[in-house]
Amino acid sequence: MKNCLLCQASIREQIGLDDLFSLRAAKPTIICQACASAFSRLSATPVCQLCGRKLTAAMTDPCYDCQRWEKQAAFSFSNRGLYDYNAAMKTYMSRYKFLGDYRLRWVFMTEMKVAVTRTKRLVVPIPVTEATMAIRGFNQVVGLIDNCRFVNALTPVAATKESNQSAKSRADRLLLDQPFKLVSGMEATVKDAKIVIVDDVYTTGTTIRHAARLLYQAGATSVTGITLAR
Ligand SMILES: [Zn+2]
Ligand SMILES: [Zn+2]
Repeated sequence: MKNCLLCQASIREQIGLDDLFSLRAAKPTIICQACASAFSRLSATPVCQLCGRKLTAAMTDPCYDCQRWEKQAAFSFSNRGLYDYNAAMKTYMSRYKFLGDYRLRWVFMTEMKVAVTRTKRLVVPIPVTEATMAIRGFNQVVGLIDNCRFVNALTPVAATKESNQSAKSRADRLLLDQPFKLVSGMEATVKDAKIVIVDDVYTTGTTIRHAARLLYQAGATSVTGITLAR
């Protein structure tokens, strides 16, 4: 008997017929059936072909936000979200990220691995700032793909005092606009690579698209995204 990682209810290891007849070990049960059913998989619903959001009957494909991105972006980018960012996912994220319960990465790690590995791309997680690292103690994105091969190619641009003070000029603001830079020594790894950027949530798309732009500028041939939630 084990306990659900989310609600602490006791759960029995369920061994299905598949597991009995296969040589694989039975998939460990991490959360209970009730908690699992509160999350909504996006693979079971129509989604925007560019950002992966759940489409309602009134929405076009690509969605309105993506049409706007397409007009201003000079590169191609599409994202796949695994789960709808519903109430259960929001609660999960706040417990994982803001309360800093690092064990909760286990809930979606296997699914993230399957999705990320399937792309056969170079895996690049979105980094967290030093300030976040100091408070949280971990990068929540890296936690979700801890069982995958990935490269830390991106790092946050440290906001220096000078750059903050000179932020009045438009040129400086555009420079500050890009929150990431390439980790030095990563140039050859990124050049001509097909990359999948991984993030926890796609909300406005700004963060992941900044990362995509930088990787294209560094010579990547194709950049896509995978996020746990959309
Ligand atoms: Zn539960
Ligand atoms: Zn979209």
